[in-house]
Amino acid sequence: MVSYRCPKIKTRLPGSKSKRLIARDERFVSQSYTRTYPAVISHGKGAYLWDVDGNCYIDFHTGIGVCSTGNCHPKVVEAIKNQAEKAIHIPSADFYHEPVGRLAEKLSAIVPGKTPKRTFFSNSGTEAVETAFKLARYNRRKPRTIAFIGGFHGRTMGSLSLTSSKLNQRRFFAPLVPEVTHVPYAYCYRCPFNLSYPKCDIECVKFIEQEILQKVAPAEEVAAIVVEPIQGEGGYIVPPPEYLPRLKALAQKYGILFITDEVQSGMGKTGKMFAMEHWGITADIVVVAKALASGMPLGACIASRKLMSWEPGSHSTTFGGNPIACAAALVTIQLLENGLMQNATRMGGYIMKFLKGMMKQYEVMGDVRGKGLMIGIEFVKDRKTKKEAPELTNQIAYECFKNGLMLLTCGKNVIRFIPPLTISQRTTDQALDIFERAVEKFQNKRKVR
Ligand code: PLP
Repeated sequence: MVSYRCPKIKTRLPGSKSKRLIARDERFVSQSYTRTYPAVISHGKGAYLWDVDGNCYIDFHTGIGVCSTGNCHPKVVEAIKNQAEKAIHIPSADFYHEPVGRLAEKLSAIVPGKTPKRTFFSNSGTEAVETAFKLARYNRRKPRTIAFIGGFHGRTMGSLSLTSSKLNQRRFFAPLVPEVTHVPYAYCYRCPFNLSYPKCDIECVKFIEQEILQKVAPAEEVAAIVVEPIQGEGGYIVPPPEYLPRLKALAQKYGILFITDEVQSGMGKTGKMFAMEHWGITADIVVVAKALASGMPLGACIASRKLMSWEPGSHSTTFGGNPIACAAALVTIQLLENGLMQNATRMGGYIMKFLKGMMKQYEVMGDVRGKGLMIGIEFVKDRKTKKEAPELTNQIAYECFKNGLMLLTCGKNVIRFIPPLTISQRTTDQALDIFERAVEKFQNKRKVR
């Protein structure tokens, strides 16, 4: 067994090499990226990342939820190498090639729903969402779309119009695509209607029917509802059991296309291939990216053959469906099906139990939620007022970084755990220990008595 002696932080952070490289980066690279940590990563293996100064971190970040099979999984690397030796680029727009057809066939089989499906491939999540947006309009010839407050769908103009997660993502970019109506999501911990589940009778879905479709967006003008089965960037928000089935039924009742954005929640992270499977629903259009190809850039928009029968040239791409990315995706799916999703369920349960235990001690942990290895911890000033604690959240995340655990935040005050699905119990224990010590350090005066 390889011993990585990790995590190990052996320099002050950032180390001297990192500092030099960061200085150059700041001069020449767009400063719109949200770099949280001053770390210049040189390489990664499995659940570990190394920076250029030789510091080693446990990776609970996975490149924003991408490296679900771990960084550089040998089987993924092999598939990439093999394909790279044959052809690096074959435009799926102009030529047929085997990996793209095989992958589309596989997606048709694994995306929930019995009808045979077709896939449009892109390079990223945002492009996959653009595809879904356009496909809905193309089919329905209707101008309106319903999306959700707190939702994140990407940053190109179409997907940005659906996004409403943080103001800095939208500020100064208007006018966006018109006729997108944002409605409250089922955020039970902070119910937008001030109700509590289950007494609420899922008011957030009733509201769409009784208020939005009656007073704002006539149902006959609405092409699609676009929803994340679990809100990701918005704060790892898991809706209650009835929510998605009721939303889907509402869409069906009015002939509105139901689009699920599984860019973050899909590809095994939650213990099922697609998060929507936890609620037993199907969608008219499904969007995936991120973990689909273990880090090779690939997005996919999947819909029934009937919906995806737009005319040649109506939507296309130069790079989307790149053969190397498709080869990596085929292996990724195989790995997910052959044990990694089970490990996500197992280790997710283990982490959740640990965090629920921590909640008994730490008042600032307002809520812990998630499915499989997609877990969010919401930090508050105290449990009674539930006042958000963004500063504390960032302090804890940064303390974890300083001790060798790479994490990401989301929403205003949530730390997310998205480790690779290959994670072992030993590494998980190390990560949880670092996390607990960080929480302890910043809030030990406010323990639950
Ligand atoms: N949709 C969801 C749910 C996402 O979480 C993201 C990215 O975080 C996107 C779409 C956009 O994906 P990308 O950054 O690959 O464009």
